[in-house]
Amino acid sequence: METKTCRMCGQAKPATSEFFYRRSANADGLETACKDCLAPYKRKSKAERNEASKRAELAYLVLRTVRKMREEEERAAAEKRRQRWLERRSV
Ligand SMILES: [Zn+2]
Repeated sequence: METKTCRMCGQAKPATSEFFYRRSANADGLETACKDCLAPYKRKSKAERNEASKRAELAYLVLRTVRKMREEEERAAAEKRRQRWLERRSV
């Protein structure tokens, strides 16, 4: 039986779809790494990964906005304190 060496674990396994995922883009029609090695990657679909990165991006945007708002609030409060201090001085 023809074997194929896994690119990730280096083990020679039968070059069949039982041990390797199919990949038509490759010459032999199989992935270069065995199923065991690729399983953790395959479990998450491309859509799920995209969704996860979108969520991370959104979380970052929210964090940045909140931080900006807080900064502006602090600046406004500091300005108010300064105004009050000036008023008290001028009386
Ligand atoms: Zn492997």
